[in-house]
Amino acid sequence: MTSENCIFCKIIAGKAPGHILYRDDDVMCLLDIAPVSAGHALIIPIKHHDNIFSLNKPEVSALALQSHRLAPIIKRVTGADGLGIHQLNGRAAGQTVFHYHTHLIPCFHGKPMQIHGRKPALKKDLDDMAERLRAALK
Ligand SMILES: [Zn+2]
Repeated sequence: MTSENCIFCKIIAGKAPGHILYRDDDVMCLLDIAPVSAGHALIIPIKHHDNIFSLNKPEVSALALQSHRLAPIIKRVTGADGLGIHQLNGRAAGQTVFHYHTHLIPCFHGKPMQIHGRKPALKKDLDDMAERLRAALK
């Protein structure tokens, strides 16, 4: 996997659309296009890494800090009962996009836990959720 054929690198480069919540020099936070539940977000490093095995400590720190920052905001905005944070490394682990990403998934009592959604959300719903989360992040 190289940055040329990586969907996340294309979003970072502005060559593919994404519902971006936050970006700095190290990380980007965006909505998952096929959310398990509304508000399902991803945190990715700006620099391409297939998985956790090539990340350096500053990159790990930057990613973890964004999880810590976003988690309470996503939980509050979505009204979730809990929030799952998941990260998969390699096909054997269920990884499907080979640019490191952390999933932040709003969870609700009585709804079974999943990591990957089955179908893309409506663009309007993603637009609305991105707007609400960006406003809460300010
Ligand atoms: Zn990439």
